Amino acid sequence: MNPFSYIRVRDLAQAIQEAAIGGARFIAGGTNLLDLMKENVEQPGRLIDINGLPLSHIEETADGGLRIGALVRNAALAADPRVRARYPLLSSALLAGASPQLRNMATTGGNLMQRTRCYYFYDVATPCNKRQPGSGCGAIGGVTRIHAILGTSDQCIATHPSDMCVAMAALGARVNVVGPDGPRSMAFTDFHRLPGETPHLDHNLAPHELITSVELPRDGFPQHYSYLKIRDRLAYAFALVSVAAALQIDGGRIAAARIALGGVAHKPWRNPDAEQSLTGMQANPENFADFARDLLSEAKGRGDNDFKITLAQRAIARALAQAAAGTPQSQVDKQIV
Ligand SMILES: Cc1cc2nc3c(=O)[nH]c(=O)nc-3n(C[C@H](O)[C@H](O)[C@H](O)COP(=O)(O)OP(=O)(O)OC[C@H]3O[C@@H](n4cnc5c(N)ncnc54)[C@H](O)[C@@H]3O)c2cc1C
Ligand code: SF4
Repeated sequence: MNPFSYIRVRDLAQAIQEAAIGGARFIAGGTNLLDLMKENVEQPGRLIDINGLPLSHIEETADGGLRIGALVRNAALAADPRVRARYPLLSSALLAGASPQLRNMATTGGNLMQRTRCYYFYDVATPCNKRQPGSGCGAIGGVTRIHAILGTSDQCIATHPSDMCVAMAALGARVNVVGPDGPRSMAFTDFHRLPGETPHLDHNLAPHELITSVELPRDGFPQHYSYLKIRDRLAYAFALVSVAAALQIDGGRIAAARIALGGVAHKPWRNPDAEQSLTGMQANPENFADFARDLLSEAKGRGDNDFKITLAQRAIARALAQAAAGTPQSQVDKQIV
């Protein structure tokens, strides 16, 4: 690990000011950044500890939603009674992630900013366009079991590893940030990027900007939801494929549908046009299977990860069936039903 300096900031203005100093990184829970530093993937010269900022609260918004401070820990967010009652999809996704110890440290902002788990990204002896732009991609032509099947480029086929973000994308959240030019807000689905020609950029945060909060809209789909995560172990493993499904059902027909996928792309994957096509349909297995096939119609495997295409189709159909029946995937007993 390289030497670095450390400062703990007291307010947002100081945080933004300190961020402008070259080579600086914010540190929150440290559960991703410290690993990356130990592996020499990231070598910040300065750490700005933001844990003293007043961003640890969950508040009601004027339009009936919730504002989640960037420093709210994943465990606290999953356990918050308002989140459990009004946004159980989010609680469920959080509980599917990492381990209790990690969730006690991991923050909302850090979870959005966590980096890919591509093996080659972590191995500094191999080429990686994300770690070192222009060096090549070790995964393309290499081992691709965990890699993306949607929205890839010939520069990078990495996935975003978060569970929380998949639920937030499905729920239609917004991300609030502040930077040298003041505060701004963006749709959650615009926060993360596809790799394209610039895979070293994971997100659309401008230099020196800080995430302050994530806002959930009023409707949390508490009756008909499911977060289904398929992974190699039933705990403490990243998703091969995950599905956040949220439905409104009216007389057996779908009145509204939101579906986001994890483990399949460089960002939580949503297709609002496809979701719209479910509106008015009967909530039945045939329609869910057709929808899943359409959603994956442009998926492309690289050999080792070909299985993800069928896996994703089946997971989508199952998650939608669970959501429609009001029998969400349990993250407590970890039974695959
Ligand atoms: C063994 C292991 C298993 C895991 N399993 C899962 C899993 O199954 N599912 C899952 O979703 N996650 C999983 N994780 C990832 C974990 O959720 C993330 O490491 C965590 O959410 C990161 O949050 P943090 O606060 O610790 O971030 P940090 O490590 O402190 O920071 C991560 C990045 O975010 C930046 N950052 C932090 N806060 C802000 C902010 N407010 N504004 C701007 N930038 C900011 C930092 O500069 C840094 O670049 C796992 C992690 C480990 C180590
Ligand atoms: S898939 Fe992306 S992160 Fe992985 S080696 Fe290729 S460029 Fe790097």
